[in-house]
Amino acid sequence: MGRTLADRARGPRPERGSSVSVALQTEHDRTAASDEPRVRLRRHGLRCTPGRLQMLRLLIVSGRHLSITEAWEELARSDIAVHPATVYRTLETLTAAGLVHVVHGPGPARYGITGEPHHHAVCRRCGHVEGLASRHLTEAVGKIEELTGLRPDSSGSLLVYGRCADCGD
Ligand SMILES: [Zn+2]
Ligand SMILES: [Zn+2]
Repeated sequence: MGRTLADRARGPRPERGSSVSVALQTEHDRTAASDEPRVRLRRHGLRCTPGRLQMLRLLIVSGRHLSITEAWEELARSDIAVHPATVYRTLETLTAAGLVHVVHGPGPARYGITGEPHHHAVCRRCGHVEGLASRHLTEAVGKIEELTGLRPDSSGSLLVYGRCADCGD
């Protein structure tokens, strides 16, 4: 499987717009990594269609939250030709099944892989969404419960808005 959110939290910021063509086309690859999307789809009662597998691989490998256009561009970069409407339908299906989640910020909705609980840092200017491993905000989440009585669930659901590093002040 690709870099986990925990890995990303430790590692350097991934290059924006970098190609993630790696492993998207390995239909018959027998490694555990390439089987992972199949396992996920079956576990959620979905058929393993090529479009769903490609989309899950894209989100896993990139480790990013992508808009429909961005997902479509990344697939095109990997020589996977699909109509944007198909990308939309695939993401909606995966979201409805709980495999993918949607983040509504400024601009188009961003879709991310559901797995390790995380929060979201959202840029108000460009709409970029960065996942934030829950463990970094354990204290803040505890404080929320202490102050409001609301117990945030384990899904990791905080939305933090601001300006991303690229957009500056
Ligand atoms: Zn997310
Ligand atoms: Zn930004």
